[in-house]
Amino acid sequence: MPFQWPAAYAPAIQPPVDLPEPSLWFVFRGAELLVAAAPGAATLPHCNHPNTLGMMPQRIQYLGVLGEQHCFSAELAVDAVAPRGWIWQGLRALFGALDEAQFALAGRALQIVEWDRTHQYCGACGRATVARTSERSRECPGCGLVAYPRLAPAVMGLVRREKDLLLARAPRFPKDMYSALAGFVEPGETLEQCLEREVYEEVGIKIRNVRYFASQPWPFPHSLMIAFFADYCSGEIRVDGTEIEDAKWFDAKNLENLPRLPARISIARRLIDAAKGEMLAS
Ligand SMILES: [Zn+2]
Repeated sequence: MPFQWPAAYAPAIQPPVDLPEPSLWFVFRGAELLVAAAPGAATLPHCNHPNTLGMMPQRIQYLGVLGEQHCFSAELAVDAVAPRGWIWQGLRALFGALDEAQFALAGRALQIVEWDRTHQYCGACGRATVARTSERSRECPGCGLVAYPRLAPAVMGLVRREKDLLLARAPRFPKDMYSALAGFVEPGETLEQCLEREVYEEVGIKIRNVRYFASQPWPFPHSLMIAFFADYCSGEIRVDGTEIEDAKWFDAKNLENLPRLPARISIARRLIDAAKGEMLAS
């Protein structure tokens, strides 16, 4: 199932004045999160402020309420040392180790921390920006430019031709791994136009009947991946050789012949598994 936010998460920007204590803290050093690690599980700091752990954040942000707990993110210097009993962990490594709702909020927190860090000054006139209290944004007092957290939409498409699925590999993929095709949306494009363009550019195939599957925030660094099924229309595979180094039709009913697939954390894997299930059932 695509990830669903638990109903218990309520995003917010301003903490209540009489904050009940303690809160849940997402403390970052670069893209790494501070956790207490035990085999198979990871725990976040639950405290009044990271300074109770001896840590001095450069910036903090209020995230809202998860379950009963108020949540904050905090940014430390990139060379900050973890307190005794705590470690720095990349988010990908925490998939399955953190509680699912906390893992999703960690991805959101990382994007907010990173956006806040890189928007302290106006991109137009260079003056120091100030946080607005009505919404998650920063405004320049000089020229009025408003900066919002960045989101880069990207589409992914799994193309089907009868009983075959089109999978491809990029040079940056782990050895032997194949996945669905994907690319970033350009200004002025619809998601469907983007998918048609990307598939044609990368493998020379024309598609039709584009159908929405699901979406997934992807905080590496700030994408929103929107996934679709599509049907083959015409053309022969012709890889572009730069973004894609190989692409093939794989028989979805012959599971042994499927290549190494993306990790279960990714929407790519859920898209492929859903297509396989649908085709095996038909
Ligand atoms: Zn400005």
